[in-house]
Amino acid sequence: MQNEIISCAVCKKTGELVSTITVKSLSIKPIKVDNAKFFLCLNPECDVAYYSDSAELVLKDEIKVPIWFKTNAHPEYICYCSKVEKQEILDAINNMNLKTVGDVVKNTNAMKISDCIHNSPTGKCCSRQIKELIELIKK
Ligand SMILES: [Zn+2]
Repeated sequence: MQNEIISCAVCKKTGELVSTITVKSLSIKPIKVDNAKFFLCLNPECDVAYYSDSAELVLKDEIKVPIWFKTNAHPEYICYCSKVEKQEILDAINNMNLKTVGDVVKNTNAMKISDCIHNSPTGKCCSRQIKELIELIKK
């Protein structure tokens, strides 16, 4: 099997490869993972959370946490492991004039617990999203 990215079965947009460990951990319903490759649908308007190359679908309402970038996500977690919300991080950056991901980690609870593969919809560390918020505020 090659690392080919397939598009979402519903919205046809390109998603991001995620670990089956993440899908298994976050899905409310039992899913057949076997040898399937799973992808996260990155389209905010699409109700699909995960889709696979074996036609398995997991909707955003069928996973344990809201996906922050999906429309009407509530609460909007950035750090899923330590349950830190977007607004809390934005406030910290603004109020304490934080410049780096390291600053945010020092001054909030973000990334205090790190078990991203089981907790975050991407299965990856939230530092990428924290960086985006810092960039957003700089503008
Ligand atoms: Zn989609």
